[in-house]
Amino acid sequence: MIRTACVRLALAVLAVVAAAACGKEGSPPVKGPATDRLPAYRVAQGFRLPASPTWKRAVGRGYFVVGVKEDQPYLGQRDPATGTYSGFDIEIARMMSASLGLAPGTIHFRTIASANRETALQNGQIDYYVGTYTINALRKKLVGFAGPYYLAGQSLLVRRNEHGIDGPQDLDGKRVCSAAGSTPYQRVRKEHPKAVLVAYDTYSVCVDNLLTYQVDAVTTDDAILIGYAAKAPEELKVVGRPFSKEPYGIGVPHGDNALRLALDDALEAREKNGDWKKAYEATLGLSGVPAPTPPAIDRYPAS
Ligand code: GLU
Repeated sequence: MIRTACVRLALAVLAVVAAAACGKEGSPPVKGPATDRLPAYRVAQGFRLPASPTWKRAVGRGYFVVGVKEDQPYLGQRDPATGTYSGFDIEIARMMSASLGLAPGTIHFRTIASANRETALQNGQIDYYVGTYTINALRKKLVGFAGPYYLAGQSLLVRRNEHGIDGPQDLDGKRVCSAAGSTPYQRVRKEHPKAVLVAYDTYSVCVDNLLTYQVDAVTTDDAILIGYAAKAPEELKVVGRPFSKEPYGIGVPHGDNALRLALDDALEAREKNGDWKKAYEATLGLSGVPAPTPPAIDRYPAS
């Protein structure tokens, strides 16, 4: 298969050749979602949210600008040939746009790395962010969160021939790669100080480093790692049990509570009418994990 061949190229340390043959550097070959199974999200007619400065600005320009990831299989992935984004997070972004009154096809997606999300929301570069973004107290001081819309957990990705790493207890002295600014990076730094941490902007670069024996493990959310493993099952495996709770939220500018609460309502409605489940099954569900029950929405008071 082409994708196995691509991974072999990377293994042979022909990273440059592999990048050209497989698409954008660092990303696994793109296998799109089951587009025929994706729901067409009904666009809310006459929807208004004048209390939200973000919504007003988007309506003024005619589309939302949404921050996402571009190298996370089944979640947020950009096809380098067409520039099209696909995955579960992308579908969440699209159904939210529809619920806020703007057709999903009008969204302008912007790839924003984990470390730059808060700044992008603070300086108005994006209207909202959907990209494996864990809700936590520290981040809530900087941005708002609608949701959660999915519950992930931190896990470990290793080479298939690795037998010495089964969980975070085995990380001492091991080279462990994660994304700068991510909660998994911070957790390993704090709880496993003897691990040798390596940080990059993206997890796909970590995966390249794993395949070329420059690191021993990649750590981040299971939802992300399962996607990489599913793309290269002969080379990679996810080990152990998830060792954290990572509730995914939609990031919004801090203080735009009208937008946050409207997105909470929209998520709840899309979970109720079946769009959430259909979107999951046509994207993240392809990595082999059946649709879970979505976590309860947390409408927290404005701070
Ligand atoms: N969910 C974690 C976080 O928000 C890891 C995934 C990511 O970096 O997007 O930090």
